[in-house]
Amino acid sequence: MFLREIQIPVSHLRGVGPTSLNQLKRLGIETVGDLLSWWPRDWDDRTSRQSLAEFERTKSLHSEATVMSHDWFGFGRMRTLKITIQDDEGTMAELICFNRPFLEKQYPVGSRVVVHGNFHWKYGSIQSSSFDIELEQHARAELVPIYSLTAGLTNTQLRKIISRASSEYGRGIDSELPQRIRETCLLPSKQEIVKMMHAPASLEEAQTATRALIFEEFFVFEYALGKRAMERRGKLPELIQPESVKIEEPASIQLSALQKRIIERLPFTLTDDQLRVVSQINHDLDSVSPMARLLQGDVGSGKTLVAFLAAAAIAERNGQSALLAPTELLARQHAENAARILEPVGIRIAFLTGNIKATGRSRLLSELAEGHIDIVIGTHALFSRGVTYRNLSLVLIDEQHRFGVMQRAAIIEKGREGSPEHQDPHLLMMSATPIPRTLALSVFGDLDVSVIRTMPLGRKPVITHLARHGNEKKVYDFVRHELAQQRQAYFVYPLIEDQDGGSLKSAEMMKEKLEKEIFPGITSELIHSRIPEDEQRAIMHRFREGSTRILVATSVVEVGVDVPNATCMVIEHAERFGLSALHQLRGRVGRGPHQSWCFLVYSGNLTEYGKNRLKVLHETTDGFVIAEEDLRLRGPGDVGGIQQSGYIAFTLADPVRDADILEQARTAAFSLILEENQSL
Ligand code: ADP
Ligand code: MG
Repeated sequence: MFLREIQIPVSHLRGVGPTSLNQLKRLGIETVGDLLSWWPRDWDDRTSRQSLAEFERTKSLHSEATVMSHDWFGFGRMRTLKITIQDDEGTMAELICFNRPFLEKQYPVGSRVVVHGNFHWKYGSIQSSSFDIELEQHARAELVPIYSLTAGLTNTQLRKIISRASSEYGRGIDSELPQRIRETCLLPSKQEIVKMMHAPASLEEAQTATRALIFEEFFVFEYALGKRAMERRGKLPELIQPESVKIEEPASIQLSALQKRIIERLPFTLTDDQLRVVSQINHDLDSVSPMARLLQGDVGSGKTLVAFLAAAAIAERNGQSALLAPTELLARQHAENAARILEPVGIRIAFLTGNIKATGRSRLLSELAEGHIDIVIGTHALFSRGVTYRNLSLVLIDEQHRFGVMQRAAIIEKGREGSPEHQDPHLLMMSATPIPRTLALSVFGDLDVSVIRTMPLGRKPVITHLARHGNEKKVYDFVRHELAQQRQAYFVYPLIEDQDGGSLKSAEMMKEKLEKEIFPGITSELIHSRIPEDEQRAIMHRFREGSTRILVATSVVEVGVDVPNATCMVIEHAERFGLSALHQLRGRVGRGPHQSWCFLVYSGNLTEYGKNRLKVLHETTDGFVIAEEDLRLRGPGDVGGIQQSGYIAFTLADPVRDADILEQARTAAFSLILEENQSL
């Protein structure tokens, strides 16, 4: 029988009365199966003893001592027992027995005891109010499991109940993991695990058992994920992952006629990586199961063009594509580029956001429904109610990390509605924020991954400098020099307008100052999220054509904005931004043939740690390194919208901490699926 199948109510256990029954219920424990999978959160090592004098050196002290006296303090119901003990070295300590008056009778003066507890110095004595006490004759040198508890239930009680359950029912437990997998991965059986968790012989044993449970959690997850991929796409996700990916030879590059025509008209040639990825995608589009591919490439590596070429291939097959961008600004820019690159070869483009007015909107929607539009580009409005497609075959998601997992699921659902046979549409997600390997194996584990490693020819890496607040004049002088060469610049601030007495520079305030004092005579404009959409568009248009020379902004320009003539990115209060955000902002420059610069101006009182954090950007332009560093500093919660979605619900496992186990479990799960499929 599997552990979770042991449905015997805990009330059948000896020693579980109505009170403990209620307490266990509050923890969600109703059956013996629940009880035995209530894993300890830690173990207290009582195999050694310390003297009371050592109380400051250790979190939990295990001491043998003699009870010297009983005292009471407080009045009435607040009366509290205090037991004074003395160890063999003569050190005295006090045990404050809140709500435990019964200890007076159990441990009379003169009894030999072993005390386990957390002691500190208080009112001139060594004291503890959170301790365990037992008579020396009963105390065993062992590892004691520490459980999560609920009011009224003590660890000692719970330990007794669990140990009883374990000895009565432990023997009949079967392993969920197939024996062959346990053997190859050197994992104990479930029966052994239960024993090793609740009554380990050593700390190593407890750790081995924990590891096995983590493996099991990952295995179940990866097995389900692999099965789903098998059912929906007829194959397992590729095991190769971004960091270990080998750049395959650009084996026979296969382009469609329309793709070739588009490429011929471009003012540049595609990089090998771009060509390879387009070929991979073409291959996916030819196969029977829908594509589910993640395209990674650092900022400026040319992912948009790959997306356009994929959409062109779909248009050739009379299918429709939808390109989703996280902001209107970016969606607008994609629409303009698509119009320039794709319309001349006869592809019909439309732009759809929530802001499009009623009349234009209804015409657009009917054209979309009738199939007169090949590619629609926009924000999440693309997937709102009332938008219907004739034949939506490809969904492209740009800057996918901006969307939560659930949002992605909703989009795919919409695609299914809009496809003729209610199939999943092909899916291509793009991201400049590299997904660390561990997440690639879990949250994004059912995707194939393509990587663009090389930048377009002639790109020079952006040079990054750090400057302390107060020294920004030098930075301004440098920018002035670039402006004199007809280049353009971004200035980015953490706030739109002044707040709290203006301790931080804001975009509004600095726009005034830059225009009037620092760069008089040079046109600048302000852009941020509160400016209406059509105005934002006009501002971007003027910046792109060069009539505006300086763009003063908040992080709205973080994603995707593409103005090759801009060579300076100045970010003030840089310590206020995440590393990945800074890398994205920096990616706004270095997009043309000219050398570009990024200046990170940080506040004067920044800590050494904060400064080292910023130095990562000075040292590398490799987005992978920066993302890993960001992950290390912030923890995984922010990556890929996992937290909002509650997508990962592991009990013991942590995909980042336990990355090695995850990988092992994934390999094992996939090999099992393959075996099962062969024997069908
Ligand atoms: P990202 O990968 O960050 O989305 P984009 O697709 O915005 O990058 O491309 C950045 C810039 O590089 C654009 O101006 C684009 O036209 C240009 N570009 C794309 N591919 C090439 C190439 N092979 N050679 C030169 N420039 C390119
Ligand atoms: Mg982009």
